[in-house]
Amino acid sequence: LLDAQGTVAPTIFAEMSALAAATGAINLGQGFPDEDGPTDVLDAARAAISAGVNQYPPGLGMPVLRNAIAAHQQRFYGLPVDPEREVLVTAGATEALAATILALVEGPEDEIVVFEPYYDAYAALVALAGARLVPVALPWPHFQPDLEALARAITDRTRLILINDPHNPTGAVFSAEVRTEIVRLAERHDAIIVTDDVYEHLVFEERHVPIATLPGAAERTVSISSAGKTFSTTGWKIGWITAPADLVTAIVAVKQFLTYVNGAPFQPAIAVGLALPDAFFTGTAETLRRKSELLGAGLHAAGFAVSRPAGSYFTVADAAAFLGPDEDAADFCRALPARVGVVAIPLTAFVGAERSASYRTLVRFAACKKPSVIAEASERLAALR
Ligand code: PMP
Ligand code: GLN
Repeated sequence: LLDAQGTVAPTIFAEMSALAAATGAINLGQGFPDEDGPTDVLDAARAAISAGVNQYPPGLGMPVLRNAIAAHQQRFYGLPVDPEREVLVTAGATEALAATILALVEGPEDEIVVFEPYYDAYAALVALAGARLVPVALPWPHFQPDLEALARAITDRTRLILINDPHNPTGAVFSAEVRTEIVRLAERHDAIIVTDDVYEHLVFEERHVPIATLPGAAERTVSISSAGKTFSTTGWKIGWITAPADLVTAIVAVKQFLTYVNGAPFQPAIAVGLALPDAFFTGTAETLRRKSELLGAGLHAAGFAVSRPAGSYFTVADAAAFLGPDEDAADFCRALPARVGVVAIPLTAFVGAERSASYRTLVRFAACKKPSVIAEASERLAALR
């Protein structure tokens, strides 16, 4: 985690958000919405504070939220989950990932298969756990893994297969074929699947298919999600795990010494959110789909080659047309605020240094902003020509 000078560099999200604040540029870098989520959820948190829900909640999470998470898994996916033994509330998906990886890695020989590019915390957490990262490439522009590469990566040394669907930073959703192959390989090599589903309600065309719903998958899958994206409450840091009871027990053993418990008044509020009518969830996905299309059209008009996301906050664009001979997307992103007043994130931030060459011209833009903001950013980007 240390750089050549022996210091810990700030994450790319912190660096780019600081640049946005310093320059006044439009921040299409870090993925967070610029509007509040459902009033019922916000009101429920205020009510909980007024009602005195302000002390340590139970270690597994408050029963009202654990029940709501189990009911959500049943309602949307037909997955039966025992709220007493198979649910754990965490400090966002980040703590869920940390506790899961730290709990389930057994030794330095253990391999963790990840899809690259990957959310930056994955490689850091694998390093903290002292395990080995085994990346499988997601190639531009469709970002689906090659099945043969997947079969080569998953072996008897594989302890965890870490997936993220819909995917940050690419916006891809795994094909049914890829999902089936992951489960087949996990069963054959007795690996545990860890799935980061934080964008589960931000899928544009179809409904999200959790890998735990595939035959044979539920008993070896740790499913992780977060309220942050679904309810536009990224600052509340309420996430959760659903998994077989023995895995939850192992993960709780670590989680209790990471944060012990999390945000009491936010827990009943998120329980209210999870029980909102279907129209809320479909409406949220449809609104984001429109923003994402607007962003894609703006980037295309500005002269970028653009990939077509199937979900998530993000769109990937190729900035090759705007790069000088020795420049890459990281140079481009560092200069972009001063050049046109927009912040974005280079894809190389999500790729190991040894393999960054194939992603060196690609840039991630966040679409979770007001349409007027996306329109203004598009206009500014058009000045690049
Ligand atoms: N996983 C992915 C794929 C993400 O994009 C994010 C960013 N929000 C997280 C995990 C972290 O989620 P949280 O803020 O709930 O910790
Ligand atoms: N998940 C968001 C992103 O990818 C924010 C992450 C963060 O700031 N750690 O932009």
